[in-house]
Amino acid sequence: MAYRVYGRVRRSDNGQGISNLTVRAYDVDWISSDDFLGSDVTDAVGGFDISFDEEDFDAGWFDPEGGPDIIVRLWNSGGRLIHQTSERSGAGATTYLDIRLNPLDLLGEYTVSGRVRDGRSGRSLCDLNVEAWDDDFIWDDRLGADRTDINGAYLIPYERADFEGLFEGDPDPFVKVRNDAGRELTRSSTRSGAPPHTVIDLAIGAVEVSRSVSECVYGWTAAYRQEGTHIVVRIQLNPDDDVTDAEVATLRNLWETGIQNKWSSHFACCCESGAKTTADSNNWRSLTFDVQFVTTSPHHTVRIRRGPMRTNMTTWDTSDTGDVASHEFGHMLGLPDEYADANCPNRSPVNTATVMDDNTEVIERQVEHLCQLLNENAVPISRLIFPFPDLIAGWAITRAERIPAMQYRIGGDPEMGDEPDMKQRREVRRVIHDVARAKREPSGKDRIVHVVSGGAPGERFESRLEVRGNGSVDLHLLDEPAGIDERATTALDTQDLQHLYGELEASQILVMEEAGRRFLPDSLVGTITIEVGGKETTFYYLADEEERRDQASPMRPQIASVKAALDRIAGRAQRRNEELQERLAERLKPERGEETTRRTSAPDELESLSELHGKGVLSDEEFEAARRRLLSDENGEDSEG
Ligand SMILES: [Zn+2]
Repeated sequence: MAYRVYGRVRRSDNGQGISNLTVRAYDVDWISSDDFLGSDVTDAVGGFDISFDEEDFDAGWFDPEGGPDIIVRLWNSGGRLIHQTSERSGAGATTYLDIRLNPLDLLGEYTVSGRVRDGRSGRSLCDLNVEAWDDDFIWDDRLGADRTDINGAYLIPYERADFEGLFEGDPDPFVKVRNDAGRELTRSSTRSGAPPHTVIDLAIGAVEVSRSVSECVYGWTAAYRQEGTHIVVRIQLNPDDDVTDAEVATLRNLWETGIQNKWSSHFACCCESGAKTTADSNNWRSLTFDVQFVTTSPHHTVRIRRGPMRTNMTTWDTSDTGDVASHEFGHMLGLPDEYADANCPNRSPVNTATVMDDNTEVIERQVEHLCQLLNENAVPISRLIFPFPDLIAGWAITRAERIPAMQYRIGGDPEMGDEPDMKQRREVRRVIHDVARAKREPSGKDRIVHVVSGGAPGERFESRLEVRGNGSVDLHLLDEPAGIDERATTALDTQDLQHLYGELEASQILVMEEAGRRFLPDSLVGTITIEVGGKETTFYYLADEEERRDQASPMRPQIASVKAALDRIAGRAQRRNEELQERLAERLKPERGEETTRRTSAPDELESLSELHGKGVLSDEEFEAARRRLLSDENGEDSEG
């Protein structure tokens, strides 16, 4: 006798046929194992048809009905067993089965699914990694993982074998959400004895970010609270005694407004990696910034001095504008400076005309790291459309997990810079020793360079003194608040140089033990670079006394004595420059000096003029004017004579 089992497999929700499932029919046997009767693969409308003969099943003598006891099992295209029908006892020649499946069943025996949202705005968060785990007595089992789609949805199928332990009957799933950097952003509670298809929705709450940042000779801790795309920075202001409460109140207002105007609502985080602006995105939210002036648990503590003074990340003054505060705020978020700094010749990028260069505008690149926390990317907010997604109030998140702010340290502690090369230092010491004792001539390539630079953009101070082994000395002084930008030169003779090398040796700077050298951004930092005999070594110090005290970084006596020697040489160059300036002023006076003096000094004057021009003391126009005057004087004499 021929038998037939046929039917359709359909979705329980909409009745649609499900194709491409493997259907296998069995005769259930009480004593031996089930007899396999035949198989088929469902067609486009979910149909299947299996035929078999009497010999294919074992009709036991005690079988009251005579026919096979049929069950049908279904496998999905991934080879996962997804369904088993209930038994049809004593089936006749033809059996029709209408199998309805929950769409989730297609995936497997068990699933955990849900949505991930921003806890503050309710916005769906895309492209986040969700991992499902089974909470086990001893060792949690990883059930599977998925990435949220543009609607924040994830779905993770798993099987009994994925979680079943010695004592476990039901799974106890929980889920974790991570970004691509591996940071856990939230995790759900455990759903003990969960049903096979469990829904776990999550909301990402506030993340306290604290991260070590290191750039050139600067090192600091970026710290802020990130709630989705909303950044909160708590700042405690500690005014000096001579700063009044009224002044502090005014400054608070000025700085808060300045920072928020500069940073807030210009950029958004969005899902679509190819988006150029929010106009290209269906899922974005604007980045907003909130400065909170607090008296407890601050992210950053800022001293307020009476200004004008040089400002660094944590020492502000009463003359600081909202623009300066916005620059220092950028450091608090972890951004390095982007101005050219004589102490940091390898800095890149520089001269970017952004808030980190000249206190002006924030650009996309500078907020990218904030969006990256959410695996999103930063785009400018298109001003062509009304940014309505911001106005959608927080969704009701019924099953969302409300999780208190979690503490993170993101990023490792970067290297504290290269350790000084002690071998290099030994060789530098040997050369210095020999030159100081006149056992060898200093090389023309030797250089001793003293750089002091610091201050926020607009109030930069930079000085650079370079003494070369051939005796030439160049000094450049830039003091933005004072409007000074001068250059001066002088020359040292062999004895002067020997004396300087002797002072370097006596200072013991080359055998000094060094502490870490990381200073707050915009601090006034001094570097002394000694390059002799082709070897180079550099020393760093905080050049401002108050900053040394505030940052607990006293000046080493060895550095202080070298600095004193170099300052004397700089003073000499400045005095020479002043003399030259005076001579120049004298020369350029409309009333002419004594004929004889002028006549004898004319070639000298031309030479010193051209020297001043070369050093940048005289502008091209000034030089040209002075030269013309000199030459016309000469001509005048000629015609008279
Ligand atoms: Zn700075």
